[in-house]
Amino acid sequence: VKPPPVTRYNLNNVTITHNPLENRENILILTPMARFYQAYWDNLLKLTYSHELITLGFILPKNKEGNAATTELQKQIAKTQQYGPEKDRFKSIIILRQDFDPPLPSQDEGERHKMQNQKVRRAAMAKARNSLLFTTLGPSTSWVLWLDADIIETPPTLIQDLAFHDKPLIAPNCFQRYYNTEKKAMDERAYDFNNWQDSPTAQELASKMGYDDILLEGYADMATYRALMAYMYEEGADIHHEVPLDGVGGTALLVKADVHRDGAMFPAFAFYHLIETEGFAKMAKRLGWQAAGLPNYKVYHYNE
Ligand code: GDP
Ligand code: MN
Repeated sequence: VKPPPVTRYNLNNVTITHNPLENRENILILTPMARFYQAYWDNLLKLTYSHELITLGFILPKNKEGNAATTELQKQIAKTQQYGPEKDRFKSIIILRQDFDPPLPSQDEGERHKMQNQKVRRAAMAKARNSLLFTTLGPSTSWVLWLDADIIETPPTLIQDLAFHDKPLIAPNCFQRYYNTEKKAMDERAYDFNNWQDSPTAQELASKMGYDDILLEGYADMATYRALMAYMYEEGADIHHEVPLDGVGGTALLVKADVHRDGAMFPAFAFYHLIETEGFAKMAKRLGWQAAGLPNYKVYHYNE
């Protein structure tokens, strides 16, 4: 009788280097998805990192909108994985449906960003990210790229460019294109305010807060005076210019898998008065992993 097969992985042989393509390192791209945008998928297909080294993981809410997005996503997956050219096909794809209930109501950008909705929303997002992460991170994963479902434009070399910096966590700068009615022309503005450097004011605010209270960024009612990476962009400057960060967003974020393996995840509760991705940066830091950002390296968020 043959013994059952045992697969052995030596984590020491799973490299995490600044040249992942040459070293054939496996990337896990993780996307929480409330809505499906074709432009997100098209951009994903254009990534030049070998698709045979990329696993995709999605988590979608179990509401009407989530059902519709799942249908759309599955259509595109079939098109790419079964009928598309070989070089476009990804190594594997995992779709999860959120199992914690009740799902949040669908909210537009204005509603989502209201301060009183933030704690509940961010906690739900943290849980979704953790479920996705802990069910998909494999023994041969070298890097995790967090990429929101509404990131519709990135350089095709995104993975190689970010990994090149060899940082435990690294975030590009997330912008949004819009029609500027004053200029009567297309324009762009900063979008993700969760990439920041801490300030004494924010520390002071936090020290006076209740046990379960969280600091939020980008709200006039809560002036933190943190240095936001969104405002560090300099036209024409080096795209590889690096800054240290204390808080990160999840719109686009490359993380060494070892950071997650060490136990850094997305707190769904107040952790040093921070939640979700910002809490993640703090937890990573407590584990000895410092986040970095690239203020001049832009990716673009969908404009609702
Ligand atoms: P914002 O850009 O900061 O306003 O945040 P989003 O609402 O865009 O959420 C961030 C990411 O999570 C996006 O990829 C959304 O599609 C996704 N998302 C939003 N709400 C949920 C949810 O309830 N469940 C899941 N699984 N994903 C969600
Ligand atoms: Mn978004």
